[in-house]
Amino acid sequence: MFTITNGIILKGQNLIPSKENIVVDDGKIINIGKDLKEGKIIDVEGAVVCPSFINGHIHIGDSIIKDEGYGLSLSEMVKPPNGVKHKALANASDDELIDAMKQSMWDMVRSGTTHFIDYREGGLDGVKLLKKASEDIPIKPVILGRDNSFYGDDPDLNKVKTAVRKLLKIADGIAPSGFGEITEDVAKIIVDECKKQNKISSIHVAESESNQIESLEEFGKTEIEKGVSSNFDQLVHLTNPKGNDLKMVSSSNANVVVCPRANATLNVGVCRLNEMLEMGMAPLLGTDNVMLNSPNMLRELEFTLKLMSVYYKSYIDPLKLLQMATTNVCSHDVNNVIQKTHINEGNFAEFVIFKSFSKNPYLNICNRIETKNILYIINKKCIV
Ligand SMILES: [Zn+2]
Repeated sequence: MFTITNGIILKGQNLIPSKENIVVDDGKIINIGKDLKEGKIIDVEGAVVCPSFINGHIHIGDSIIKDEGYGLSLSEMVKPPNGVKHKALANASDDELIDAMKQSMWDMVRSGTTHFIDYREGGLDGVKLLKKASEDIPIKPVILGRDNSFYGDDPDLNKVKTAVRKLLKIADGIAPSGFGEITEDVAKIIVDECKKQNKISSIHVAESESNQIESLEEFGKTEIEKGVSSNFDQLVHLTNPKGNDLKMVSSSNANVVVCPRANATLNVGVCRLNEMLEMGMAPLLGTDNVMLNSPNMLRELEFTLKLMSVYYKSYIDPLKLLQMATTNVCSHDVNNVIQKTHINEGNFAEFVIFKSFSKNPYLNICNRIETKNILYIINKKCIV
């Protein structure tokens, strides 16, 4: 048992600042209050105690080729099966992949992330490899698998169904790359099987303008319309919405992940965060491919804070931004697959303690903090 004393806690889903102590026992927050002091005392005088980060979207496998292919187009870089990334993955040994993934997971842990949602390539073996790599690291990978049987204009749907069921025995969900690579029949199998088993179905949509134009020309529907009408639980990117796309998403049950730094690296556009927030959406923030970006949520937060100012010529609310990296997932996690909690009595102890440099705790984290300013990372029973 231990008590964190004298910090500013960002409590609950809405990250409300409160000067209270937190008592943790056996991985859970058992008490929050003014004068509590039980077990070992960790005095963090004036520091900010914030829920740990969730990286809402990452491809950790391409940690093996950091910065390779810089300057190429989106499809030359990451489109299956011939993008730079897929060729590198096919040629890497299991040991190389495991070492690179471990390094990225430690980077995430040390920068305050305790959960990440990964689009894992390589079928069943790819999922197993990430599970093995993460065994001794204090982080929870939420692994979304895929299979080569998904691709092509005329896939064998029985094979697809069998592959999805096998994957779901060990994965937390399924994530094909995008509608450019799969048919709507394949999408339906993925979504139906995930729903039956309370797992997550996720897909990239509208990452580039050309994705959207091709979809409109071929199907008369945008990728976002296809994502919503196929009932995917989670849509990633939405960087290039058309017409009513965002409205349609906001009135659906789909949750959204945006990746501003990855979009910038690939020069595919700026996600419309201010509009999404005005519509009442509660997106997550992700760092996307490790080949493009470091998986550090502090860097993503600062970049996004400033990018939105430049893009909209107005400010994004830093509280809303911080929620994208911390507590928004708590309200999305209907199937309890991700199991990320906010700071409240009875919840898992998953928080980060940051030095404080400013009176605004949200700007302190989004605008000031660097990895070296993290005092402690608490992930259930583990203190880093
Ligand atoms: Zn991605």
